[in-house]
Amino acid sequence: MKFKVGCARCYQYKPDKVQKALAEAIERAGGVPELKEQIIVKPNVLAPRHPEDAVTTHPEVVKGLIKVISNALGDNKKFIVADNPGYIFTEQRDLLFEVTGMAELSREGLAEVELLSDRGLIAVENKTATNLRYLRVSKIWLDDEYSIINVAKLKTHVETLITGCIKNIFGIADRKTRKEAHAATNQRQFLEAILDIYTLREPHFHIMDAITVMEGNGPSRGTPKRGGWILASHNALAVDMVSAYMMGYRNPLDVPLLNVAAGRRCGPSSLNEIELVGATFEDLVIEDFKKITTFIPKIPSFLRGFAHSLVYFYPVLNKNNCLKCGICKKVCPVNAIKMEPFPIIDRSKCVKCLCCHEMCPNGSMELRDSMLKKIIGR
Ligand code: SF4
Ligand code: SF4
Repeated sequence: MKFKVGCARCYQYKPDKVQKALAEAIERAGGVPELKEQIIVKPNVLAPRHPEDAVTTHPEVVKGLIKVISNALGDNKKFIVADNPGYIFTEQRDLLFEVTGMAELSREGLAEVELLSDRGLIAVENKTATNLRYLRVSKIWLDDEYSIINVAKLKTHVETLITGCIKNIFGIADRKTRKEAHAATNQRQFLEAILDIYTLREPHFHIMDAITVMEGNGPSRGTPKRGGWILASHNALAVDMVSAYMMGYRNPLDVPLLNVAAGRRCGPSSLNEIELVGATFEDLVIEDFKKITTFIPKIPSFLRGFAHSLVYFYPVLNKNNCLKCGICKKVCPVNAIKMEPFPIIDRSKCVKCLCCHEMCPNGSMELRDSMLKKIIGR
């Protein structure tokens, strides 16, 4: 049996248009799934950024989803819209939910809006883990009393190339677990850690907000671009593979994260195992989409582990617009940054996780290509 992905056109975040597109995409994916009375909706709320920046899931998509589910299953469902942002923002929760527009859902009485860590954390063992066997994650995430719907944003990611449904679940882990994952000494280890977190408990349904997407150096410093679609599916990897295709990856398994997920049997192992409903693959392609540049897929597989240590981005400070706020120092998982008063990176410690780039509020941690990446790029 094929993995179904429902697609519906949507160009604007107008409430009626978004709700209609969500209803169509969900219907095409097989209809609203059976859900418990309490439902966790997990958007991408990475940072306190406005919806038009395309860093976070648009609140109209979350709002529309709640309405579609309530219309289909009745008004007795209780929704909790929850995420853990980049961990430096957990102290700024009011600002986070206000700026991202999620607070509106609570004011309208549609959902409780909170951090995934608010109701406690739990230490667990993932017996199928290949990197992070012992983790600490949100307690309600693992509570059978709640159904879960994942509402991701289609964006590039400087480390994992794309950030979609699977990567969105990274946010269920606590600060220490995420730091451990980011401290991986090679890319494969980091990707396995993402899957170790994802496979703890897979959401019941997945939505991709691809109405406005992010190209360039995502997930926080790229450029918004029109995507024009809502996707829906019971399977996260199927949505992510279709999303990668939209971005221009003719073979989505060239994206290492998706390759690792397919290897761990999280979903389809090729596009042939996906049934698109409501669009063809060619309809979905976003014209002139700027991907993260990588040359890893062109390198023979037996050399890829080695290549990852030579072909990479690394962060470089642009002092001219640095606020000396120290956020980069706080997020660095290996304490490679000290403030004097500008940040100084100890290159011997840096594992090139790019968290400092991702979380810098002013774009002051710029990216440079490694020497080999530059040479191959030419
Ligand atoms: S590089 Fe960015 S995060 Fe670091 S101190 Fe400067 S402005 Fe703050
Ligand atoms: S300096 Fe930046 S890229 Fe290097 S390990 Fe620290 S956060 Fe990651």
